[in-house]
Amino acid sequence: MEIKRCIRCVMPENYPGITFDAEGVCNVCRYFDAKWGSLLASVEEQQRSEAKLRKIFEAAKRKNRPYDALIGISGGKDSSYMLYLCREVYDLNVLTYTVHNGFRTDEVNARVDKLVKVFKVPHIDCYEPLARELAGVCMRKTGHFCSICELLMYNTTQVIAAEYNVPLIIMGSSSRTEAPPPKHLNPWDPWYINNVLKGEHYQERLRCSFFARNYVIKAGLAQLLGRRRLLLLPNYVIWNEHKIHEQFQKELGFDFGEEHSDCWATRIAGYLYAKKCGGTAPMVSKYSMLIRSGEMSREEAISRLASLDVSEPPPELARFLEEYNMTREEFDEASERSTGDYMKGMSKLFNTLRKRLRGQAI
Ligand SMILES: [Zn+2]
Repeated sequence: MEIKRCIRCVMPENYPGITFDAEGVCNVCRYFDAKWGSLLASVEEQQRSEAKLRKIFEAAKRKNRPYDALIGISGGKDSSYMLYLCREVYDLNVLTYTVHNGFRTDEVNARVDKLVKVFKVPHIDCYEPLARELAGVCMRKTGHFCSICELLMYNTTQVIAAEYNVPLIIMGSSSRTEAPPPKHLNPWDPWYINNVLKGEHYQERLRCSFFARNYVIKAGLAQLLGRRRLLLLPNYVIWNEHKIHEQFQKELGFDFGEEHSDCWATRIAGYLYAKKCGGTAPMVSKYSMLIRSGEMSREEAISRLASLDVSEPPPELARFLEEYNMTREEFDEASERSTGDYMKGMSKLFNTLRKRLRGQAI
């Protein structure tokens, strides 16, 4: 039976958190219009927004710290473009870093090396060997494994920003360009991870790792006291995926490939999300986002949907099972579990607040 979809994007009715109004438009489209509609429609507003951005950058430069801004580069399109803008367009003195979590591919590591050389930026490689193991604990207990990597990236950013007293942390993600799965499927806050790891034999090693402290509290204080600021770059400037791909292909020979191709397990994560989203592949919400931004037609998205098959796990599952010493039965059983038992108290509160601050509809 044909599934009902939003008449503007392609979000299906059985996706968690999706509702339709009387006209058949989904709540994410309505929320997006309210938040970003006028910016996308008006050149004057885009100019005002960019002027605001330049002011923030000037203020960071005036602080005269060793670096104006901190940027994490994964080798993916968003961080590559962010680096290009900060160096070539806004002339910021940036410090860059890359988080190694045990899921990176040689191809993206080579891209990072090239970026560092081309843009002539100082770069720090951060390794956290515990991340790979903890991802396995998450998979077994919660049916998903991305949370650890997300918290690792967050903590690493905060550690380096504090270490070098950087006034500005710049990120290449925003609710205008990203369409992540609903947060209750992938919470990553330190309270949640603590709950998951309670009773596991990791407590001593956690104390010697990037997971040692609750950096959400620390970062919140730094922001409140005006010592450091987090800036989501796509909130201020036009972020056209097609043009980014084209520019980097032409100038550096980069082929960014699929979404999140910097992680070899990304399609396994997609399979797990789809199981909990009524069979909807994560790319469906990505296509919907591109339609809202005017970068893809609904017809094109509909025709692409046909080739998205998430009913079976991808071939990479064999490597995953081997690395985590799991059988297919254990994986299937774990995939039925959920984050609910561990997402309570402070974790719940944090995720509700974050959704508001980031401007996410679901
Ligand atoms: Zn919609």
